[in-house]
Amino acid sequence: MKIDEIFAKKDLVFSFEIFPPKTTSSVDTIYKTLEELKDLKPDFISVTYGAGGSLVNNRTTELSSLVKKIYGVEAVAHLTCINSTKEEIDYILNDLKAHGIENILALRGDIPEGGVLKGDFKYAYELISHIKKRGDFNIAAACYPEGHVKGKNLKEDLIHLKLKEESGATHFISQLFFDNNYFYNFLEEKDKLNIKSSIEAGIMPVTNKAQIERLTSLCGVNLPEKFIKIVNKYEYDRVALRDAGIAYAVEQIVDLVSSGVDGIHLYTMNNPYVARKITESISSIINSINKQKAI
Ligand code: FAD
Repeated sequence: MKIDEIFAKKDLVFSFEIFPPKTTSSVDTIYKTLEELKDLKPDFISVTYGAGGSLVNNRTTELSSLVKKIYGVEAVAHLTCINSTKEEIDYILNDLKAHGIENILALRGDIPEGGVLKGDFKYAYELISHIKKRGDFNIAAACYPEGHVKGKNLKEDLIHLKLKEESGATHFISQLFFDNNYFYNFLEEKDKLNIKSSIEAGIMPVTNKAQIERLTSLCGVNLPEKFIKIVNKYEYDRVALRDAGIAYAVEQIVDLVSSGVDGIHLYTMNNPYVARKITESISSIINSINKQKAI
């Protein structure tokens, strides 16, 4: 099923993100993870595409196919273009189609060290146009409530977001954020440009301090005072920090859902325990919203 149909049916879409296991030995753990995630009944699961965009050892197609065919959950395959030629992208698109995948999250990818580009694509919108021409896939893309970390400012970023919509993206998934006000401001600004695509808020439950440090330098997201307070208080107590991270994410989600967002995309980090705790806390809220649409 194309995810557009899911958005048309529901007032609130709830989805997960997972990443392919890094080594063959960890493949077994992904079966267990998927078994547990499937029971939480997400609307779809998206599967990331390895940094660097190499065709070698790319397990995104294989895992997306597993999500869809074995676990019966709709799949969205991420695909980056910065390091690929048109021929390589076409090879992957043909492979995705052969595996029955109907949804792609089309991305540029991060610029490699030294800034040397190997591929035919410079920006995500070019990949989106290329995929759109085939007519086979529903295309989603990324958006950044606080602006892209390497971008000039939010205003320019939004102009480029509009370009992605005009090129064929019908759905956006946001980068993680910890202060909902950035997301609300972003929604207001994108409305001014008449961007109509559905937008899911990307939520990452933070469960350890190293993860937070990596994220802030990689994505450039702001950390609100109350979030920093939690991290500093429990940084040496793994379980307490995990539980506080889950509680923080739940509070963010309740606020977003009550404000009428199109969807929540949970960055699960392949951790079914955290995904389950969050899903259990918000399932009655999700059901309530979608019941209102059904009436
Ligand atoms: P673009 O939309 O091309 O934007 C990149 C930058 O270029 C922005 O600053 C934008 O303003 C600017 N820009 C765009 N168009 C133009 C133009 N015409 N002229 C001038 N400037 C322009 N990375 C992975 O490697 N694998 C993944 O699976 C993955 N999944 C992700 C999922 C989500 C939900 C998100 C938010 C990010 C993900 N990323 C992933 C990271 C992503 O690849 C990086 O953030 C990357 O740096 C930008 O990708 P993009 O598709 O947003 O690029």
